[in-house]
Amino acid sequence: MTTPANSAGDYLALVGATVYVSPAEDPIRDGVVLIQGEKMVSVGARGQMQFPETAHVLDCFGLTITAGLWNSHVHFFERKWADAATIPATELTRQLQNMLTQYGFTSVFDIGSLWENTRRLRDRIESGEIPGPKIRSTGPGLVPPGALPSDQVISLMGLMKFPAPEITDAVQAADAAKKLLDDGVDAIKLFASSPRSPALSESTIQAAASEAHRANKPVFIHPNTGADVLTAVRGGVDIIAHTTPHSGPWDETLLTAMKEHHVALTPTLTLWKYYMRHDRLSAEEKVTRAEIGQLHAWAEAGGEVLFGTDLGAVEYDPTEEYVLMSQAGMSFPQILASLTTAPAGRFGDQNKLGRVAAGLQADLALFQQSPATNIRALAQVKYTVRAGKIIYRATV
Ligand SMILES: [Zn+2]
Repeated sequence: MTTPANSAGDYLALVGATVYVSPAEDPIRDGVVLIQGEKMVSVGARGQMQFPETAHVLDCFGLTITAGLWNSHVHFFERKWADAATIPATELTRQLQNMLTQYGFTSVFDIGSLWENTRRLRDRIESGEIPGPKIRSTGPGLVPPGALPSDQVISLMGLMKFPAPEITDAVQAADAAKKLLDDGVDAIKLFASSPRSPALSESTIQAAASEAHRANKPVFIHPNTGADVLTAVRGGVDIIAHTTPHSGPWDETLLTAMKEHHVALTPTLTLWKYYMRHDRLSAEEKVTRAEIGQLHAWAEAGGEVLFGTDLGAVEYDPTEEYVLMSQAGMSFPQILASLTTAPAGRFGDQNKLGRVAAGLQADLALFQQSPATNIRALAQVKYTVRAGKIIYRATV
């Protein structure tokens, strides 16, 4: 394989790693990923590759390379992100490393935060000032009255206070969705139900979903029960943002409806386990079994899974989520797909991101050990690369 040497931009050669070009293909052993500027220009076995003498070579022997990872359920709503425009660059960089880039995440979907603030954070990253992930955001969710915790609870959780539009019917749902879309959000997020008011009806959900789909944007929903999921699916929602372990197993009717409507699921298994940490062990284990059962049933049915943890509401380390997904029967290639090809496809980036291939943007995660043999290794990252730049490197 030869390399076009006549185009502009510096070359970076990642040499010697095991390269998972996609979850569906066998890895290349002793591979080379050659990057020029922001893009990969060739990918192959070292013995068959030539690259320019001017290339900067990064020794990657013993490492494993995959496409950069996606977390499709995060929130920039912790107090640390407030006034994102004025946080010093070094501090902001460290916060993004702590939360995301040290774990290989190069793309995230924020599904609930103060939109103006998250947009400023994104602007600072996209301008090149701050190394960080690609951010998409829904801005605040649309909620039935009383769905959100009290100010006191929000403060105890360490979160910023921000208003979320309350909706009770189709007209309000369409208006609120349209206003957010006009403000530039990348998707609409809905809360299905509330302890203090009736759940959103199918027609209310449908009204918000129609506005989003007209703008070519997806719709996420936070469900509390299996019944919420069924209403949401019938209302045209695209991504179910949580499993619902407190409402029992997902039955055939629900799984079939989810499949027929081609929805995707972010499992957030660690979240529900975490919320049970003050309860009796037997109660915690019951919830963990239920969520694992729901993910297992969905994956078994061939349903699409997007890795997602509700990051910002849980600890940053994703190790436990990977372990729980494995316990739900997902293989390494399936988990890798949920982190790469599935979100890239779902959010329209399949020709730019999600695989390790010539012509695609050089968003990559480089792991210390093989996650194919130990799923925990997916959380032990040596380098994170976004658009050809190393945005995180481990110091040990
Ligand atoms: Zn969330």
